[in-house]
Amino acid sequence: MKYDHDVIVIGGGPSGSTFARIAAGAGMDVLIIDKRKEIGVPVRCGEGLGEREVIKQDLELPKRCYSTEIEGAKVVAPNGKSIVWKGPETTGWVLERKIFDKWLCELAVEKGAHVKVYTRAIEVLKDEKGRPNGVKVSHGGREPHDINAPLIVSAEGMEALMARQMGFKTVHQLYDVDTCYEYEMKPYDHENLIELYFGNEMAPRGYVWIFPKADKKANVGIGVGGNVENGEKQSGIKGANPKVLLDRFIEKNEQLKDASTLLDFGGVISVGAPINEFVKDNCMAIGTGAKQVDPIHGGGIALAMESAVMAADVVLKAHEKKDYSKDSLYEYEKTWRAGPGKKVAKRLLLRKVMEKVSDDDLNYIFNTITDDDLKQTMDGNFACPVAKVVAGRPQLLGILSGLLSK
Ligand SMILES: Cc1cc2nc3c(=O)[nH]c(=O)nc-3n(C[C@H](O)[C@H](O)[C@H](O)COP(=O)(O)OP(=O)(O)OC[C@H]3O[C@@H](n4cnc5c(N)ncnc54)[C@H](O)[C@@H]3O)c2cc1C
Repeated sequence: MKYDHDVIVIGGGPSGSTFARIAAGAGMDVLIIDKRKEIGVPVRCGEGLGEREVIKQDLELPKRCYSTEIEGAKVVAPNGKSIVWKGPETTGWVLERKIFDKWLCELAVEKGAHVKVYTRAIEVLKDEKGRPNGVKVSHGGREPHDINAPLIVSAEGMEALMARQMGFKTVHQLYDVDTCYEYEMKPYDHENLIELYFGNEMAPRGYVWIFPKADKKANVGIGVGGNVENGEKQSGIKGANPKVLLDRFIEKNEQLKDASTLLDFGGVISVGAPINEFVKDNCMAIGTGAKQVDPIHGGGIALAMESAVMAADVVLKAHEKKDYSKDSLYEYEKTWRAGPGKKVAKRLLLRKVMEKVSDDDLNYIFNTITDDDLKQTMDGNFACPVAKVVAGRPQLLGILSGLLSK
């Protein structure tokens, strides 16, 4: 079969553009298609990014891609007690995603990738053995046409409809998603810290974030468990209404209650386990479409870029051999599960355990642990912080011992 490209990447977000940059940079003929009219627009994101992840890839983030540099995090308990966590591992940025995403995509173009926006993949084409060999696309509502390639990469984000056609299990259960709502607000004075507020009543199975931006602006958002029943419900939709809960938080916040809203949107993010396989013959899934998202805070940009790098490295070897079989691509999945996958699994365990803790217990935990305990917890080293908490409140042993089981 004569192919139009070596690889078609569905989605021009951080994962798709990062994959394309590396693959095109090594000489592959790469096409990115994105259904949006403009890469990175509209923004549906809190825009927080940890510095280390981008640096890992030897990229220098241009000033225009971010709004603020972040020095650390302030984590706040239901009773208002906070822990400030600052260190090399907590520095980062609050991005301007519409510029950041386009910058990543432009880097791919500079390496030779082709990009077509306003071009939606509507069907995965397959050969007689059922292996993907192209996509049917609709460009700007015009008559659909076919584009062929021996490898299709789904970098579709949450929707992942094409990945589903490739056979990946991308359907989300309500329990495994957070429904989110966010405003960009002004004015908000801040200390270059991201602020995270926890409490079951305020944000059941989730949290409120305030991510500061330049010019006294801030992204103020909430994520709540998709299956949560105790909150104001949205009419006809199962679960809590994140907008109502966010408005309630804002009303009680001295700084925000009189601030203006400049942007207003809702969204959904995966906070469950990654999909059970990332590669099949002639296709693969990367980034949030593969549910590679941090289950504690719902951050997916860094993981999306990291998985794209791993996937591209393996694809380059497969391209040399002209072998895009599942076996040939499997090294990507293996590397991911042995690396970031382990961290994600520990975060998932932490999330599941913390969901069982009442607000009163959460207040107790915040009163007991230090910023170093918090760091250890986030790194997946639970033993010391758990011992400290259980020593003073033994009744938490039953719940927190879940953290020590693996
Ligand atoms: C409210 C909210 C707040 C968030 N805040 C943060 C945060 O602060 N920090 C963080 O790290 N993460 C955050 N996230 C998650 C983050 O946005 C994603 O994890 C990240 O964008 C994943 O990158 P990606 O490249 O995998 O997918 P995406 O960025 O979603 O890109 C997927 C692309 O695929 C395109 N596409 C989809 N289907 C098709 C199709 N059939 N044909 C053509 N194109 C298609 C889409 O148009 C899109 O451009 C947040 C998410 C939400 C909902």
